[in-house]
Amino acid sequence: MDTKRIYLSSPAMHGEEQQFIKEAFDTNWVAPLGPNVTAFEKEMAEYVGIGHASALSSGTAAIHLALKLLNVKQGDIVFTSSLTFAATCNPITYEKAVPVFIDSERNTWNLDPEALKKAYEKYPDPKAIVYAHLYGTPAKIDEIMAIAAEHGTPVIEDAAEALGSTYKGRYCGTFGNIGIYSFNGNKIITTSGGGMLVSNNEEDTKKATWYATQTRDPARYYQHTEIGYNYRMSNIVAGIGRGQLLHLAEHKKLKKDIYRQYKEAFADIPAITMNPLNPDGDANCWLSCMLIDPKLSDTTPDMVMDALDSENIESRPIWKPMNLQPVYAENDFFTIDGIQPNTAPVKGDNGEGWDGSVGGDIFRHGLCLPSDIKNTPEDMERIIATVKRCFV
Ligand SMILES: *Cc1c(COP(=O)(O)O)cnc(C)c1O
Repeated sequence: MDTKRIYLSSPAMHGEEQQFIKEAFDTNWVAPLGPNVTAFEKEMAEYVGIGHASALSSGTAAIHLALKLLNVKQGDIVFTSSLTFAATCNPITYEKAVPVFIDSERNTWNLDPEALKKAYEKYPDPKAIVYAHLYGTPAKIDEIMAIAAEHGTPVIEDAAEALGSTYKGRYCGTFGNIGIYSFNGNKIITTSGGGMLVSNNEEDTKKATWYATQTRDPARYYQHTEIGYNYRMSNIVAGIGRGQLLHLAEHKKLKKDIYRQYKEAFADIPAITMNPLNPDGDANCWLSCMLIDPKLSDTTPDMVMDALDSENIESRPIWKPMNLQPVYAENDFFTIDGIQPNTAPVKGDNGEGWDGSVGGDIFRHGLCLPSDIKNTPEDMERIIATVKRCFV
């Protein structure tokens, strides 16, 4: 195919990244510590307006260490978003704790405060809540935090997709007891791979760094009182991060513009709605997504994705909810109607499972559109024309 490939969301480098890397090479700081790591932590904390940060090898590692900091242990109940990427909840399982999945609400696609209340009816004393801001749209943070505070449950805010998004003027990732970010290859800024754990409590970030560097006790010899991890960010990777952070605001502006273009282009197709943006916030629009109303069109997300693929355009299904994942078939799932029967895939239903949940509905009727900030106006036209052809 000779048409240019259009990506979902690919890295956008600017040049400063290489300067920071060059400095690291010139000073021989090619190690999982060094001036870029320290500076990147400080610059990230300042950017989002939080006290402290610990630079780690991935967002998943950051969630894992956040759970360690909250002392989540084998058998503990942890409430978590169902409609999200598996990395939100997998670290709960690393610790042999038990994820209990909570449905989404329609207004932000994120953890539903009303469903959360239902989960407390069965489990009044969960060890923690881990929830995500899907596709960069801030959740109903005030409502979630109020319920958590009422029950004294600590909160981990998975802002992996929402770096740069704000809610009531404050950056996502700074509301929970602990926040986490990801710099994976397709996130709004990337270091090729990496993550950050943030907190207003310096004890947290210090301890996270200690866990991430093999839990060495302050002794002359190697002594360990706890099991450690090799989760630290390298000084090279942190150099990329420092360069990228200089362009976060610009990336957000471009992402928001992509969302606006789709919204305008599809305004005259009643069957299409775009993913919601919380009116109490300012989303980074990391990925633009669309929903198809099955009452208004027979076109399915698969048909749109196939059409885009045949034009050499990358798209992606909505995250498949965790309550529909075979690996979590034994876990409880709560909607606003209370606990739901296990609906993980059974034979003959296409592996999708079926349930009446909001998350399941969004999964079945939605898709992620290309949201690459390097898209040209011609690229956007090609994408939009291809989608529109599916609705004539
Ligand atoms: C990307 C992502 C993560 C994991 O981050 P990594 O850096 O890839 O480990 C966690 N949660 C969500 C919602 C994500 O999208």
